[in-house]
Amino acid sequence: MRGAKARALAALAEQAERTVSVPAACPLCGRAIPADQRDAHHLVPKSKGGRHTIDLHRICHRQIHAVLTETELARSYHSVEQLLAHPALRSFVDWVRTKPDDFFVRTRKSDRVRRR
Ligand SMILES: [Zn+2]
Ligand SMILES: [Zn+2]
Repeated sequence: MRGAKARALAALAEQAERTVSVPAACPLCGRAIPADQRDAHHLVPKSKGGRHTIDLHRICHRQIHAVLTETELARSYHSVEQLLAHPALRSFVDWVRTKPDDFFVRTRKSDRVRRR
């Protein structure tokens, strides 16, 4: 019986540990963020005086900056709700949701953003 109790305790401890180390969910796509894919995003760009950051997948973060300029972010996309309302980000989220949590590919900037 002692063995079973020890196993139960070990399972509990393991569960507690997992709860602590469970990565936060990405506010953009809702998937868990593995530690090596975590990126901090300034809702208002640092260059525009923003200080508050949110944790996102690197790929989700890159996508935001591939689609929007810092001026657009500061002016109209400084909340998760606003970002999700952007059609290009909306379709990105629908797509990336079907991928594993640690999925990452290089993000191409749209010509529109790159040209500035
Ligand atoms: Zn994400
Ligand atoms: Zn950012």
